[in-house]
Amino acid sequence: MSDGVVFLVGAGPGDPGLMTRRSLELIASADAILYDRLIPAGALDGARDGAELLYVGKQPGVAAVAQEEIDARLVELARSGKRVVRLKGGDPFMFGRGGEEAEALARSGVTFEVVPGVTAGIAAPAYAGIPVTHRDLASAVAFVTGHEDPAKQDSPLDWDALARFPGTLVLYMGVRGLPLLSGRLIAAGRDPAEPAAVVERGTHPDQRTVEGTLSDIAELAAAAGVRPPAITVIGRVTELHDAIAWLERRPLHGEVVAVTRARAQASGLAARLRELGAEVVEAPAIRIEPRPVALARPESYALICFTSPNGVRLYFDALDGDARALAGVTVAAIGPGTAGELGRRGIRPDVVAERFVAEGLLDALRGLDLRGKRALVARAAEARDALPDGLRERGAEVDVVALYDTVAEPLDDRARAGLARATYVTFTSSSTVRFVLESGARVPESARVVSIGPVTSATARERGLEVHVEAERHDVDGLVDALTADVTARRVAPA
Ligand code: SAH
Repeated sequence: MSDGVVFLVGAGPGDPGLMTRRSLELIASADAILYDRLIPAGALDGARDGAELLYVGKQPGVAAVAQEEIDARLVELARSGKRVVRLKGGDPFMFGRGGEEAEALARSGVTFEVVPGVTAGIAAPAYAGIPVTHRDLASAVAFVTGHEDPAKQDSPLDWDALARFPGTLVLYMGVRGLPLLSGRLIAAGRDPAEPAAVVERGTHPDQRTVEGTLSDIAELAAAAGVRPPAITVIGRVTELHDAIAWLERRPLHGEVVAVTRARAQASGLAARLRELGAEVVEAPAIRIEPRPVALARPESYALICFTSPNGVRLYFDALDGDARALAGVTVAAIGPGTAGELGRRGIRPDVVAERFVAEGLLDALRGLDLRGKRALVARAAEARDALPDGLRERGAEVDVVALYDTVAEPLDDRARAGLARATYVTFTSSSTVRFVLESGARVPESARVVSIGPVTSATARERGLEVHVEAERHDVDGLVDALTADVTARRVAPA
């Protein structure tokens, strides 16, 4: 028999950034992954093609897969030689029945490994600005599990001991059981005026915190409509929320921003928006499709102009040679993104346009005598001819190499659902507008439309979209600044 192995892995509380490096390595190499409901969105994206993905969590209205069945499945898969990841929310040994699964594996003689995760009871408070211990306020912390269903409360908890516990109580349970639990604690002698907080969907972009006291927190959470998953923290540390809440104060917290540009280009914009607190939904309606090209030797040109980061990437892929061939060539970039992509290849452009359009680059090249010189414009197939025409007017002999096409990318269900929830929809080019609308996806009426500049705005208007925000600087930073300013202005003076 070949030897399989099971990894009991914590996936953290929800923010994909809190998944450990080890968990990502194991997900990428697993033959089978058995996962629960509370794992971060996209946690399985790195799984191998062909890996067996099995959902074994609870589902509303459907009987959960019995624990014995999960245990048996893990053993069976391992015995058939598989590399199995058992992926759980938070930490596998914190109220996740990971202990029982490890026992079953040990009993069966299956090789296994435990990979701890960031637990919700520490992370959700942390993201709410609540340290579970504090030098002056709490020298101990107790992690407590409570039943979701108060009727089922055949409580294994020692209420007197919990009431006397000298420190923070962190309750892993939904808010339905909270009235009963807080009532029991008060009856056992815990101070009804003790500060308390509930953190809903901790570490997610739409995290919410409700504050109160032990006596009224259940009522306040219910009134606020708090839904699972939620953690309750009881103790003076919760008072620090006001001073150090950081996530909920970020400028774009609570906004859902759709990014429609090609996936390969989306990451920079998405990362900036996330850092500002937005939930980003990627709805890439376009894709970059490289064209096969035959390039002339770079040293045969006096000037090479790059008009997009994709152009740089694909030019160097096609060149497949030694970058020193560009040593004597004047290299020009249309904007900072393109210059950055060159920089990653060890090339500092001689010229970068100040206005990130063809005319801006021509301006920046003004000092150069191009008469009789050979110039190359490396760019997308469909692009304006302003740059090559302008260079020709200056006497250059111009080659244009079309390195790629931008083609429509069908939007999958996740992208459509995301777009439908968006509070802002961003467009970084006319083609993103065209392809989103042609994909049949709908931009929600209530969403604000953000455009990178006048050309994109015109396309949007032609297609019947109202443009609410237009960037003053026509690049990603300019777009993010304009969007953030709009959110801020609307929060100060709601429309
Ligand atoms: N093993 C998990 C806990 C499983 S018990 C861990 O270590 O985090 C499930 C309970 O955890 C939920 O009822 C809820 O109280 C809490 N929980 C899990 N994820 C949460 C989140 N993102 N925000 C708030 N509470 C969460």
